[in-house]
Amino acid sequence: MTIQTREQCLALDRQDPLAPLRTAFALPEGVIYLDGNSLGARPRAAAARAALVVEQEWGEGLIRSWNTAGWFALPQRLGNLLAPLIGAGPDEVVVTDTTSANLFKVLAAALRVQGQRDPARKVIVSERSNFPTDLYIAQGLADLLQQGYSLRLVDSPDAIDAAVREDVAVLMLTHVNYRSGEMLDMAALTELAHARGALTVWDLAHSAGAVPVSLNGCGADYAVGCTYKYLNGGPGAPAFLWVAPALRDAFWQPLSGWWGHAQPFAMEPHYRPRPGIARFLCGTQPITSLAMVECGLEIFARTDMQALRAKSLQLTDLFIELVESRCGRHPLTLVTPRAHACRGSQVSFAHPEGYAVVQALIARGVIGDYREPNIMRFGFTPLYTGFADVWDAVEALRDVLDGEQWRDPAFQERGAVT
Ligand SMILES: *Cc1c(COP(=O)(O)O)cnc(C)c1O
Repeated sequence: MTIQTREQCLALDRQDPLAPLRTAFALPEGVIYLDGNSLGARPRAAAARAALVVEQEWGEGLIRSWNTAGWFALPQRLGNLLAPLIGAGPDEVVVTDTTSANLFKVLAAALRVQGQRDPARKVIVSERSNFPTDLYIAQGLADLLQQGYSLRLVDSPDAIDAAVREDVAVLMLTHVNYRSGEMLDMAALTELAHARGALTVWDLAHSAGAVPVSLNGCGADYAVGCTYKYLNGGPGAPAFLWVAPALRDAFWQPLSGWWGHAQPFAMEPHYRPRPGIARFLCGTQPITSLAMVECGLEIFARTDMQALRAKSLQLTDLFIELVESRCGRHPLTLVTPRAHACRGSQVSFAHPEGYAVVQALIARGVIGDYREPNIMRFGFTPLYTGFADVWDAVEALRDVLDGEQWRDPAFQERGAVT
């Protein structure tokens, strides 16, 4: 594909079978939104759904809505809607808590299973470049357990093989790296872990709704991920958690709250786990926020991950090609792998003034984001991003760089969230 004009991009938009899905989102006029990898856009349906939950279910139904509006079963119902997007089966997924908290639960469960099989396995292997919360949670858990548990971090995916030795309990990886957009080979790494006697925990924060995932197909063991990124569930929407059916009943999870009890309303003094995946619930669920997740998932039900992946690769290829051909004289370095098999649905470029460049782009309505030390991230969400959007975003970038607009002191100031 060699694209040289905006007209050609418009022609691609006209032929795009996914283009009509854009109307399912409420995006502000004049904004090109390339940050769906951090906070997905708002599904149009979310406003009416929020009003329904607040005014009717809460306002009118009051306490009765736990039964009459299906609140009690919402984590499982949403899990079943999400399951096909990550290659999971029915009743294998729950939507609950945060990704950080869910990681704590599944990592603890995995270490417990391993402790029973082979107590000498006390190491968690991960990447130093993993999202910080994943590493912090693993460190916190190792500190809590004591007894010699520790974290072994590798500096590149190539080093994973050598790090997974006979002392390793769990290989804990994020499928698509939040900063570089690099995607790991889930099938191969899961096979490698199993061959060495280790279990796998996969973080799908930047995979769910972004790339096809086949948890059961890969024989993975545990997974967690976000709903507020590519799944468009809303700011801080609850996360999800999956456990391989074979491991689910070798159950133990440390946050043994009453929602994971076999009979929460029996009010028994002793904990007995609920059967199935619902045992990974902890306490009372944030219903207003959970309810929004359904609006995002309903849009995915109108397409499939193969179609989304095909367009995602076209969009990211086009962005890379246009940035390199039209902004080539500037000090930009592509951080994201060119190989499709190793690329998620975002493109990252390093630039020495990356922070200010992103601020200048945002001021023009092209919203991407920035991650330390010098990385500009652009997320591509095929549900609502078109080819002409890519063209326009690159033209804005070219203008910001050619005109050195990023030098404006206003673009150097940092907010609490970058
Ligand atoms: C975004 C992200 C998280 C976020 O975790 P929260 O508990 O929702 O704050 C966790 N892990 C990865 C890999 C992420 O990209």
